[in-house]
Amino acid sequence: MLGRSGIPCVPLISVFGLRRDSPQVMPLQERNYWLATAEFPAIDPSCPLPQVCDVAVIGAGFTGLSAARTLAKRGAKVAVLESETIGWGASSRNGGMVLTGMKLGVNKLISMYGRELTQRMYAASLATIDCVEQIVGEEGIDCDFSRCGHLEVACKQKHFDDYTRQAEVIEVEFNHKLRVVPRHELHAEIGSNIYYGGMVDDVSAGCNPARYVAGLARAAMKSGAEIFEHTRVQSIQRDACQGEVGWKIQTSRGSGSGREIWAHEVFVGTSGYTGPATPALQKKIIPIGSFIITTEVLSPKLAHELSPRNRMIYDSKNYLYYYRLTPDGRMLFGGRAAFFPENDQTIRRSAELLRRGMIRVYPQLADARVEYVWGGTLDFAFDMMPHAGRLNEGKLGGMYYALGYAGHGVAMATYQGQKIAELMAADRASDGAGNDKPENPFIGIPFPGAPLGLYNGMPWFLPLAGAWYKILDWVS
Ligand SMILES: Cc1cc2nc3c(=O)[nH]c(=O)nc-3n(C[C@H](O)[C@H](O)[C@H](O)COP(=O)(O)OP(=O)(O)OC[C@H]3O[C@@H](n4cnc5c(N)ncnc54)[C@H](O)[C@@H]3O)c2cc1C
Repeated sequence: MLGRSGIPCVPLISVFGLRRDSPQVMPLQERNYWLATAEFPAIDPSCPLPQVCDVAVIGAGFTGLSAARTLAKRGAKVAVLESETIGWGASSRNGGMVLTGMKLGVNKLISMYGRELTQRMYAASLATIDCVEQIVGEEGIDCDFSRCGHLEVACKQKHFDDYTRQAEVIEVEFNHKLRVVPRHELHAEIGSNIYYGGMVDDVSAGCNPARYVAGLARAAMKSGAEIFEHTRVQSIQRDACQGEVGWKIQTSRGSGSGREIWAHEVFVGTSGYTGPATPALQKKIIPIGSFIITTEVLSPKLAHELSPRNRMIYDSKNYLYYYRLTPDGRMLFGGRAAFFPENDQTIRRSAELLRRGMIRVYPQLADARVEYVWGGTLDFAFDMMPHAGRLNEGKLGGMYYALGYAGHGVAMATYQGQKIAELMAADRASDGAGNDKPENPFIGIPFPGAPLGLYNGMPWFLPLAGAWYKILDWVS
């Protein structure tokens, strides 16, 4: 049996589906909680591909749909090509944390990019939250968006000491205020005793990601974009059509020449699911598994005790846990329990590891039934930075892309989709001269591949990387 997420709905480990005192055996189903709360727009599966379009967008997640919405609003004929269904990738599977900042800390960013560029990147990371809020408001997307703020919690004293330094740098350099919470005040933020303190950013938000991505799809369609599900892009090549240079795209949909679509421009928004159709991007993105469990609905009293301010919470480890309450009062608890992308085995193991982790953080949940478990694939570039722009060399030179969100994609993917769409419009208007380019500090930063080029999209080194990060967590 396949869930809408494409993940087989199979019974997992029955003990996790049980309260300790539960009289009957209730198998835990492998399924995505968010999908049980969302309704997706119906797409006519028999609709043929157009022969020609202005922009072909590959991937119907936050990146692709945000781009499609912006482009269609500007009058472009847009076809979104999605190999599975709307939001099938990470966009419906994530924690729904709409976070400021980037994966790397600010000192590291300043050492990599200098002050001025880091300031622009940080400002952009704040603008990403406004971007999501604005779209949700404009389009009336019912996705429980709320500016609840995020809380980072320190697993070691050293990590907490670093919060004070980080908060100072962020206030001085970026004019943004974070609140450092010492250990003895942390009970006002979280009902757990295991942390050494925390740091709060009130600007971050939370949402229901499946409802959000479904709403983005509706908004893109309302603006005139066409979405084609079950349409895998198999190959893309440069081609001319009636004297114009563009791209011929071969898909899995239809038959004969009906499988092809010609597009002036192509935008790639495939993130952790980037595959062989775009090898130049595939070899720069490491797909890393992340997994989530969700408990039964908790009593309002217990939910309040666990997270009195209802924050989006994550810890300071490399192998981190991230968690939050869902709008209906469940504990949603995620982590990189296995580094490999989701499959039957990694999800099964993750359910067990995450439940143990959740009880270490919250012993109060020892008897809470876990009702959902699922996994998804994150997209990490080798430098852990988002990358966006236009490929300028190789067979795919001229193609636009945005990816590499490293677990910060709810806000950044929405923002990059919009920004790159604006860039495409600016490039088209100025016919390549590109005078009125939108501000986007992530364009043009070096986009590294694997050291010595030892990677073609098969992440053979993930067990080593996983072990390395575990060691870093011990020693740091
Ligand atoms: C478990 C998990 C938890 C996360 N939690 C958070 C969080 O709390 N906060 C946060 O900010 N980020 C989080 N993230 C990251 C965030 O979800 C992603 O960065 C974001 O969803 C990326 O969106 P996207 O549109 O770029 O990619 P995706 O949503 O992954 O969409 C890519 C789409 O491309 C399609 N595709 C791939 N190849 C082809 C092809 N050849 N032809 C056609 N279609 C193709 C795929 O089917 C897929 O639907 C999490 C991710 C995971 C997996």
